[in-house]
Order: sequence, then structure tokens, then C-alpha cells
Amino acid sequence: MSQNYNWQLGRDMAFPYDAAFPEHQFAFVFNLNRCIGCQSCTMACKSTWTFSRGQENMWWNNVETKPYGGYPHHWDVKTLDLLEQANPAGQTWGGNPEDRRAPYGRFNGKTIFEAAETFLGPEGANRALGYLPADEEWSAPNRYEDHPVANEKGVAGQYFKGGEALPQHKTWFFYLARLCNHCSYPACLAACPRNAIYKRPEDGVVLIDQERCRGYRKCLEACPYKKSLYRGTTRTSEKCIACYPRLEGRDPDGRGLPMQTRCMAACIGHIRLQGLIDLDAQGAWKADRYNPLYYLVHVAKVALPLYPQFGTEPNGYYIPPRWVPRPYLRQMFGPGADAAVDQYAAPDRELLAVLQLFGKDHRICTRYELKPGPKVFETTVQGKPFALYNDTIIGYAKDGSRIVETTVEEPLHLRPALHANSI
Ligand code: SF4
Ligand code: SF4
Ligand code: SF4
Repeated sequence: MSQNYNWQLGRDMAFPYDAAFPEHQFAFVFNLNRCIGCQSCTMACKSTWTFSRGQENMWWNNVETKPYGGYPHHWDVKTLDLLEQANPAGQTWGGNPEDRRAPYGRFNGKTIFEAAETFLGPEGANRALGYLPADEEWSAPNRYEDHPVANEKGVAGQYFKGGEALPQHKTWFFYLARLCNHCSYPACLAACPRNAIYKRPEDGVVLIDQERCRGYRKCLEACPYKKSLYRGTTRTSEKCIACYPRLEGRDPDGRGLPMQTRCMAACIGHIRLQGLIDLDAQGAWKADRYNPLYYLVHVAKVALPLYPQFGTEPNGYYIPPRWVPRPYLRQMFGPGADAAVDQYAAPDRELLAVLQLFGKDHRICTRYELKPGPKVFETTVQGKPFALYNDTIIGYAKDGSRIVETTVEEPLHLRPALHANSI
């Protein structure tokens, strides 16, 4: 194994290959506070890319209800349990958060690649610690939909005691929308004995070559997010392709400009913002202060990687749901979860404006600009003063053209009485 720097862990990490970083990296931010579990994203992906016999289990995008739901069933609990067995009580964080090199401090535990060096998982010696889900675990993709965490023991029928306030609820659930993270250190790629999986140098998209794949399912075993899927009818594995024709500007709707993927563009809740990140030769994000993804991940630090401790350096980032107990969020999103929720619960002026960019246009926004507006509201949030300004945010595409212009307060359109109750 070679040693490569993983900035999400703040340290070097073992990986079977030397790092090779793309010039631009496909990345996305999901605001989990806004997801309504409508599955429009899931169906947008499905109706675009998967068809014919065998497509029933091809959920490249899925939305599951946490904490009990998951596709395949309990995928995260099972991998976390394997890591715990490999390194009992060792999955901790320390060190000091630094800038882009180590924004979450340092991970003390073992990643799936490091754990596999000394610990045999259920499938024996492997390049990454993992497991192959049984067939029944791929059934019922939306199991436990809308199931909340139960009442406290012995407190029948009690959801609220009174006095609870955001950001935490005693009885809670949230929707976790997921797709392949197009990881910087893809476990699927590391595990494939056929070298059928590759990461594109132009945009970091991870693809499975359908001609080379023989369906050994080593990628399914190794991917900690279980986002490589086996299709029995073709006997090959499939996964999200990041809608690469849209990234390349080949969708006629984009008129040559890179477009957000189908699942991003179809999102009813406007929870998704996707883009391409400029990387330096060491794989760190190049400073790009007014790129909205850069701002959310590295400046406001409200968007965090999903299970960074797995070690694949996923390129999907999440704004954690503010009503969920912090220990759960810390395990899922790492040590940045507390600061992220606090920041989101009482957002500053710039964050409020950048959140307006989500879902506004199908083309990829590479830069934004703010125009100050008047103060419209003042209050206190969690004991701190909070002011709402009706600023304007303008978003630009790769070629500098203006693609979004909107205010923090969304305009209200009143329907003339003449048309009331008419269609
Ligand atoms: S999420 Fe899984 S399938 Fe996607 S690149 Fe990462 S390891 Fe591979
Ligand atoms: S990016 Fe495209 S291929 Fe991937 S899950 Fe979304 S719609 Fe499907
Ligand atoms: S379309 Fe958006 S709001 Fe609906 S389930 Fe998907 S991510 Fe959530």
C-alpha cells in the first residue's frame, strides 16, 4: 500500500495505489434540513439511465429514512461495526483543525483500507474492509420510511415533553439522499481485480467499464457506501455515472455549458447544489472563495463529508439536520458536526444568500457575487442576535454568463382575485 494524504482525515492514509487527482472533481452539497423524501431525484435517475429487465434493483440514487432505513439494509451500521471489531474503541478524532489541509483535525482510527491490512472481514483478506450484502438486504429500498426514533423507554406515547426547542428533538428521523460519492480514494476501484473501474482525469467521475467487468462483486464488498450495484441479468456491476454527458456540456438544454446532473436538477426540495472543484497537485481544493461549494465546505464549514472515517475521501457533502442529536451527527459527519449545525441554525448574511442558489438553475454555478440589501428582520436565535438582510445573490456559469439572480426573501406573487378558483 502507498501512503497518500487524505485532507478529510488530516493525515496520510494507506491506499493500494498512488494518488492521482483529476484537474476538476465532481462534488455536491445536500442540505438535509430541506429534504422531504419525495424521491423525485431517485425517479429522475431511474427514468434517465436504468431500463429493461434487471433494473428493479438499480437504485443509483436512493433516499432513505435515518436512523433505521438504508439501502442495502443497515449498510452503514454494518461497516461501522466491522471497523469497531478491527480497532476496538479506536475510531476517535484529535489534533487541531487547520485550514484546507485538516479542517476537521486528525482521525486517530483506522480506515477501511488500513483495517484490512490486519483484520480479516467476513469475506477474508481484501484490499478494503467490507462485506457483501445478502440478496434480501437489497430488497425494499425504502424500508422504514418515516419511522422515527421511538419514545424514551417507559414513556409510552410521549413525543414531546414540552420545552424542547431546535436544534434537537427527542423523537426524530431525517431523509438521507445518497448516490456514489465519486471518491478521491475509491474503495470500489481499489478492490476490482479486473481493473474495470477507473476515475476520469477530467472530472474525477468514477466509472465501471462494462466490457471489462465480470461481475465478481469485489466493488460491492469494498464500497463502504454500497453504491456499486450488481445486476443479475447482465452479470455486471453498475453505478452512478454522474450524468457525465451533462457535466461535459453535451445536454442541448445547457447550450454548451456544464449542467447539474438529473437527480440534482429534479430535486423538488432544492436541497442539492452540484459543481466541479479545482484541485491542486496534492488533491487539496484550490482556494476559490466565491465558488459556492468551496464557500459551503471550506469557509462556512456547514457542509461535511458522509462518514469521513471510512477513508475514501467522498466528494458528497451534507449540511446536517439540526434537530438530530449531536452524537449521531458526529458519528455520521465527523467532528465538524457541532459547528456546522450551530452555523446553520443561526446563519450569517452570506450563508443565507448562498443557500438561495440551491435548485435555482440547471447549469453549474462556478462563482457568485453578493449585492447588499436592506435589513428586514431582527431577532435572537439561541441567545444570539440575528438579522435578516434582503441581499441579492448573482450566480455565474463557467463562461462568465449570469445564470441566477435572486434575493434572500423570495418574491411573493399574489394571484389576482379574478382568477381565484379558476384553472
Ligand atoms: S461511493 Fe463507493 S462506488 Fe462510489 S466511488 Fe466511492 S467507493 Fe466507489
Ligand atoms: S448523478 Fe446522474 S447517474 Fe448519478 S445518481 Fe444522479 S441522476 Fe443518477
Ligand atoms: S428530490 Fe430532493 S427533496 Fe425530494 S427526496 Fe430527492 S433530495 Fe429529497
